[in-house]
Amino acid sequence: MEKLRDAQPEMVKIRRHLHAHPEVSFHEKETAKYIKDFYQDLDCKITDFGDGYGFAVDIESGRPGKNLALRADFDALAIQEENDLEFKSQNKGVMHACGHDGHTAYMMVLAKTLIELKDQLKGGIRIIHQPAEEVSPGGAKSMLAAGVLKGIDNVLGVHVMSSMPNRSIGYHLNETQTGRSNFTITFNGKGGHASMPQLSNDAIVAGAYFVTALQTVVSRRIDPFETASVTIGSFDGAGSYNAIKQSVTLKGDVRVMKEDTRQTVREQIEKIAHGVEAMFGVKVDIDYDDNYPVLYNDPQLTKETIKSIQDANLPEIKQVFDCGPQDPSEDFAYFAQDTPSCFFYVGCQTSDGQNHPHHSPDFLMNEDCLLVAGEAVGTAALSYLGV
Ligand code: MN
Repeated sequence: MEKLRDAQPEMVKIRRHLHAHPEVSFHEKETAKYIKDFYQDLDCKITDFGDGYGFAVDIESGRPGKNLALRADFDALAIQEENDLEFKSQNKGVMHACGHDGHTAYMMVLAKTLIELKDQLKGGIRIIHQPAEEVSPGGAKSMLAAGVLKGIDNVLGVHVMSSMPNRSIGYHLNETQTGRSNFTITFNGKGGHASMPQLSNDAIVAGAYFVTALQTVVSRRIDPFETASVTIGSFDGAGSYNAIKQSVTLKGDVRVMKEDTRQTVREQIEKIAHGVEAMFGVKVDIDYDDNYPVLYNDPQLTKETIKSIQDANLPEIKQVFDCGPQDPSEDFAYFAQDTPSCFFYVGCQTSDGQNHPHHSPDFLMNEDCLLVAGEAVGTAALSYLGV
């Protein structure tokens, strides 16, 4: 902890560098190079995994023991930053608006600290630097397929949370973040003159009925004690006053807390789409993508992880609380599906009293969260590896 406290300015420096130079998912070439360069002269082994820029850093104690993976993601979003910061994004239309710059910064410094202490550890630590968390199919999936968790007993991960108090740790047991599906549906009708609707087949009307009928999926088909949301986020119907639309394409998003709920929602959406097809005589094309799983926190590992953080009684951590399940989805869920894992949250609320939500152009993090995350994950790792 002393080493981490001394290295706090380095965490901030790295985070600000990453923040100024963001790259979107699957295009993080310079980011990956910057992180790899940091490890160049350190006593560790770097291995690439997956079809993106992801890689792992292995820290071997040389003594038998368990193997723990620690994961940090490093991609940014296609958002134009509106903050006025010395280190604001220099890349137009790209921004670290989810805090992955912070995840990577604390993890690099924590990794360096663990490398310095490795003679005092048992077993091994694998740092997973993961790209492309934000965009389906995500960076985790291909790293997993390439064997990044082979020989790993457990995985820990952290997300900073601007909605949680600064210097707090939030956690939850079992189902912790939603699973996600996305779909694109096109209704193909027949274009024509607005004055002669009888000679055409209006795709906008079919699409509108579909959106309305879709509202019954959650309200009428899902047990009120279960969780699901269905959103149409895009309805491409722009045209002119006097022409009947030939086709419309809709894009939608589904969130669930159980995999069988995911299946129910999918069946209902497809049923309604085919119902609209029959009702209006349009032709429907459905492209349905079941992507990130529900994030499942192994209860035993999560209890042990949280207990180690509580027992350490660190002055930087003011509060450790069960924050309940979280709405967003996370591709860490693929790791958790494969290997018992724990994903928890570090509050990063700013002191200006304003709301700076994730994925917004004015997202801000309180940089205190960097040391808190480093200490929390560091404590859990040392406790896990029996030091
Ligand atoms: Mn994120």
